[in-house]
This record gives sequence, C-alpha cells and structure tokens, in this order.
Amino acid sequence: MAERKEKTFRFVIVGGGIAGVTCVEQLSSQIPSADVALITASPHIKAVTNYKQVSKTLEEFDVEERPSSVLEEKFPNLTVIHSAVKSLHTQSHALETTDGRVFGYEKLCICGGGRPKLLTQDNPYVLGIRDTDSAQEFQKRLSKAKRIVVVGNGGIALELVYEVEGCEVIWAVKDKAIGNTFFDAGAAQFLIPSLEADKPERASPCKRTRYTTKEPAPGGSHTFTADRNARRQGSSSTEAGSALGPDWHEGINLQGSEQGTRRVSLEYQCEVEKIFTSEELLNFPQQTLRPENVGSWPVYIKLTNGKTYGCDLVVSATGVVPNTEPFLHGNNFALADDGGLQVDDHMMTSEPDVYAAGDVCTACWEHSPMWQQMRLWTQARQMGWYAGRCMAAHVLSEPIELDFCFELFSHITKFFNYKVVLLGKFNGQGLGSNHELLVRCTKGLEYVKVILSGGRMVGAVLIGETDLEETFENLILNQMDLTPYGEELLNPNIDIEDYFD
Ligand code: FAD
Repeated sequence: MAERKEKTFRFVIVGGGIAGVTCVEQLSSQIPSADVALITASPHIKAVTNYKQVSKTLEEFDVEERPSSVLEEKFPNLTVIHSAVKSLHTQSHALETTDGRVFGYEKLCICGGGRPKLLTQDNPYVLGIRDTDSAQEFQKRLSKAKRIVVVGNGGIALELVYEVEGCEVIWAVKDKAIGNTFFDAGAAQFLIPSLEADKPERASPCKRTRYTTKEPAPGGSHTFTADRNARRQGSSSTEAGSALGPDWHEGINLQGSEQGTRRVSLEYQCEVEKIFTSEELLNFPQQTLRPENVGSWPVYIKLTNGKTYGCDLVVSATGVVPNTEPFLHGNNFALADDGGLQVDDHMMTSEPDVYAAGDVCTACWEHSPMWQQMRLWTQARQMGWYAGRCMAAHVLSEPIELDFCFELFSHITKFFNYKVVLLGKFNGQGLGSNHELLVRCTKGLEYVKVILSGGRMVGAVLIGETDLEETFENLILNQMDLTPYGEELLNPNIDIEDYFD
C-alpha cells in the first residue's frame, strides 16, 4: 500500500460535513504552510455561516452547502479530493479511495458523520432523512402522498410532523410523550397544543394553517386535524442546492398531495412490528384493518400496539449510527457502545495519528458533570474545530487543554415555532432520583424547567422567549447554592437577572 501512495499530506480530513470543514478551516488558518487534503464523498461541502455566539456556551449559525472550490480559494494549500474512502491502513498511514487512488497522511481526522438508522434496509417505501438529497427525495415522494407514517421521536420527527402539510401524518413514538430525546412529558404537554392551534405567522417564508382538534382517539392516541386556509407563501419548491441546516425544512416545501384537511394522529408507546407490501397483506387474511386502511396502499405498517396502517411512505426518523464502516477493516479502533469511534480529550482515536470528530465519534473522556454528547450541528462544529486545534498543537509540540465548550451542554433550536434552549443535564440525565425540579408554565407562552441537585442548578429547559438563558447558564457554571431562593427562582414577578447581578 505504502508504495502506491500518490501523495502524502501532512493532514488529511475525511468528510465534507460541518465537522470536517471546520477542522480543515482551523488547521489551514493555524498552519497555513501545511499541506491539507479534504477527502469527501459528497460533491459539495457544508459551511457554517452567520455564526453568532449567543452567550458563553450557546451558539447559533446557519449551515449552507457550497462548492468545495470556495474552500480551496480561501486556503491555497488545501486539496479537495472528491471520492469516498474505501479503506484505511493505519499502519502504513494510507487511505484508499473508491476511484482506486491511495493517499498518505501524517495526521488524519475522520469526520465521516452518521447514517440514518433505518427501520429496514432496501425497502423502497421506507425513507431516512439525512442530507439534502434524501430531503429532496422525501419532498418528491411526499408531493404524491395522501398518508405517511413517521416513526421516531427525535428532532427530525418533531420538525416533520409540524411542517408537513396536505398529507395525513401518523406519528408513532415509542415513549409516553413526544420529543423524548429533548424534553420531558411536561414540555411535551406544553407543545402538543401547537399541533392543534393556528400556526403563527412567520415573517418569511409565511405559512398560515388553521388546525382544529378532533376528539382524541381511544387507546392513548391523539388526533389533530388541520384546515389549510392559505398556501405557503414566499417559498418556492426546492431551491437548487439548498442545504440541510438547523432550519433544513425552510427551503423545502413539505407539501403532500392534498390541498385540504391535514391530520396528525399520534400513536404513543409503540414500535414497528412489521412493514409489508399490499401483496404480502393478502397473505395475512387474519389481518384486521380498520375501514380507512383498506385499499390499495403501497405499503402497510404494523405497530406493536396492534394497529396496522396503510400509507404511501414510511419515514424512518429513529436516529443515526456512526458511519465507521469504511475505516474499520484491518485496524484496531476502540468502538463505543453506540458504535462510534472512541476519542479521548484530544479527539484522538485508539489508532496512532488518527483523530475523529462529529457524528462518527463518541466522546470517551471523563465528561464535565454538565456536558453530554448529542449528535448535533453545534457539537460537530465544536469537535471539528477542537480536533483541528489538537492536531496543530501536536505537530507544533504545544500543550492543549480540553476546550471550554465541553464544560456545559447547550443547544438552541426551534420546535413547533418556539425557541427552545437546553442547558446542562436538561432532562436530569444520569442524576437518578437525586434531583428536584422547578417548573413554570404559561400555556402558549413559555415553559421553564430547572433541574436542581443539592440545591445547585444542573440543567434547564427553556421554551419560548424566556430571556433566562444567560442567567441560568451562569448559575449552572458557577454552581451557586440556590437553596435560600427556593421557588422564588422562577417567580415571574422577580427580575432574576437583577437578582443575580
Ligand atoms: P455529516 O454532516 O454527516 O458529514 C459527513 C461527511 O462525510 C459528508 O460530507 C459525507 O459525504 C462524508 N463521508 C461519509 N463517508 C465518507 C467516506 N467513506 N469517504 C469520504 N467521505 C465520506 N442538528 C442540529 O443541531 N440541529 C438541527 O436542527 C438538526 N437537524 C437535522 C436534520 C436532519 C434531517 C438531520 C439528518 C440531522 C440534523 N441535525 C441537526 C444533526 C446534524 O446534521 C449532525 O449532527 C451534523 O451534520 C454532523 O456533522 P458531521 O460533519 O459529523 O457529519
């Protein structure tokens, strides 16, 4: 392998997603003279734009897809290689690409991302959403669909069921409440009415949808109906090259085949038992289907609560698995339980000179008590940036310490058009029963939950325009004893910012 090397680069980064691109940018600015190669399977790279530091740890940015030439123009020592890595040979420090070329590296960073954890492989009616291509494929298929089943309870599922219009949506979640990955049943309860209420008007693009509630169906399922009284304005169908970003659905018209009523039906505490075609259904004469499900649906899905639905499409939104496969054969990578490449506090894997960042890796250093890994844009950016710094520090023989961004978990996003801020152990993760909760909720306006452990704040969920994020971030970071304040902490009549100044 060593003798087949076309060229040896000082740094090779695999993956043109947020982690890989940020790593390249960091390395190229820190050591402009170094030969850097970015090997990526995708024709475009993802770039962070409009970056804004909201507070000490909270950050907001957009993600755009750009031609890789933009990056090469900015960094003259960068070579972008458009091919997928087929195999890695850590002993000879070489990578082979699918187009048969071999490249050497002194230091390598694997940023290969993740791939959707599909309910079933090779079923044309089961779709995962991962990148721009799959989102556009979903859009295309949705435009002809009368009914889809969305399976999963993470961020993608939450966004989809809220955004899809003109198509009946059956939403199957395995938990007792929606959005279990991000918040508890209380927050879910706060958000549920948004599926029933008018969608608030947005500046641009503008959508106006009217929802009315139908009686909840028996057996723990909810049914919501929506009357579209206005078509989405200001957003054409697909803008060419529009990227998946924190607002990935904004540029994509998630419109089903129907113009009128839309319905979201929730099926709680169930998983998928079986997915079968209409032909296979005929082989199950014992199958009892509700009248609305009989017909010529291309695919049927049986849930573990006994219900079977016919639909046009099943969206598998059940998370991602780290995309490690091309890198493992013949090497000795330590893998975490979730399948990610284990990395230490310098983003180094167990193989010499190989680093990893983003969705492909699992942070295996001793975490700060207020931080946990979640596979999100923000962490992909932070890890890519920090991996770049570590790689540079190692070749320059400089010391480097774990970055401050790994002190406190923080994430800012939007669900059901509400601003959502998550801080620290926002769901009491890992705290067992050793914590107490303070909750303040004003229907339709805000939901504030604080997690206290030993009288100190360890996490918070802020939904709505609460303006509390900075104060709470400080309280979590400084670990002040809040026992004397008791429930006053969430008293809406107290200006908490002044209180702790
Ligand atoms: P990726 O962005 O997946 O990039 C991986 C790169 O590696 C790609 O360029 C790929 O082509 C390349 N690659 C893979 N294998 C190879 C190979 N063998 N050889 C060469 N190149 C290879 N996070 C949020 O924080 N907020 C959100 O609102 C949000 N919404 C999301 C919506 C959707 C639909 C999805 C799928 C994810 C969303 N996420 C969101 C999560 C976020 O997308 C990921 O955490 C983030 O993209 C991870 O970045 P990455 O650079 O590690 O991987």
